[in-house]
Amino acid sequence: MTTQVFGIFGWPVGHSLSPAMHNAAFAELGIDARYLPFAVRPEHLKDALCGVRALGISGINLTLPHKQRAIAELDSLSPDAAAVGAVNTIAARTDATGVIRLEGHNTDANGVVEALREAGAELRNMRVVVLGAGGAARAAVVGLATAGAAQITVAARQSAQAAELVHQLQPHFPTAVVVAAPFDGTLSTVFSAADLLIHATSATLAADATTTAAFVAALPLHCLPKNAIVNDLVYTPRQTSILLAANALGLRTVDGLGMLLHQGAAAFELWTGHPAPLRVMRQALFEALAHPPA
Ligand code: NDP
Repeated sequence: MTTQVFGIFGWPVGHSLSPAMHNAAFAELGIDARYLPFAVRPEHLKDALCGVRALGISGINLTLPHKQRAIAELDSLSPDAAAVGAVNTIAARTDATGVIRLEGHNTDANGVVEALREAGAELRNMRVVVLGAGGAARAAVVGLATAGAAQITVAARQSAQAAELVHQLQPHFPTAVVVAAPFDGTLSTVFSAADLLIHATSATLAADATTTAAFVAALPLHCLPKNAIVNDLVYTPRQTSILLAANALGLRTVDGLGMLLHQGAAAFELWTGHPAPLRVMRQALFEALAHPPA
C-alpha cells in the first residue's frame, strides 16, 4: 500500500495551517498519508487538477484564488458547493471502471455552523448579520440558512455584491429571509435587531493597526443586544480587534479558528471515512498559529 497524498492548492499558500492540522490527524489515526501545501498559480490550476488525476492524489483543499475557478474542472458538485458557488474540498474517487472522478464539496458552510454550535449557539430562528459578501460570507449564509436561521442580513460596502449574493442564495432557502443592507451609518439599526454578527470581510487581514482600529471603531458593536454573539472568521491573530472590542462590551465571542477546524474535520471525514480527531487537530492549529509556517 502506497502513502496517500493530500494537499492544498493556493496562491499564496505558505501561510496555510491546514498541513499541520491534517498531518496531525493522520498521525493520530495511524493513516499512511501526507498533506502538502502546493503553491499553484491561477493560470496553472487546470493543469494542477489534471495532475491530481494523473498522480493519484487522494484529496485537495482549495484556497484563494481557486475556490470558484476550479468548478469547471470537476466531475460533480455537492449540494453545499453548488449553493455556495465555490469548492474548498475535492475528493478524488476511482469508479468501478477505474476512472478517477473529482467531486467538489464545500465544507466551509459546515465549518461556520459547527464552530458556532460548539460555542453553544442555538442557530434555529436566529437573526444574523453577515459583514462582507465574498466567499466566506457566502459559505456563512448557506450554512446558517441550512441550520434554520430566520433572517440573514448581508452588509457589504459594494451594494451590488450583496444584492447579487442575496439574489443567488435566497431561492435555495425559502424558509430564511435573506436581505442586503448598506455598509454605512444605518448598520446601527441592523445591529440592534441581531442575535449573531459574523465578520466575513478581509478589511482587517494584513491591515496596519491604524486601518484596523478605524474599521472596528466604525462598527456600531454597542448597538448589538447584550446577549448577541460576535463571530470573527479572521483567525490571525486569534483574538482579533473586533473580538476584543466585543468582549469589552460584555458580548459573547467566537473566533475564526473554529471554522478552520471544522471545515478541515469535514474534509478529513469525506476523504478517509473516519471521524476526525478534533482534539488533536485543534491542538495542531494552536501550535501552528503560535509558530506559523515560514
Ligand atoms: P473575499 O475576498 O472573497 O471577500 C472579502 C470581502 O470583504 C468582500 O466582500 C470585500 O469587499 C470585503 N471587504 C474588504 N475590505 C473591506 C473594507 N475595508 N470594508 C468593507 N468590506 C471590505 O474573501 P473571503 O470571503 O474568502 O475571506 C474573508 C475573510 O474570511 C478573510 O479575512 C479570511 O481570512 C476569512 N476566512 C476565514 C476562514 C476560516 O476558516 N476561519 C475561511 C475563509 C476565509 P470588496 O469586494 O468591496 O473588496
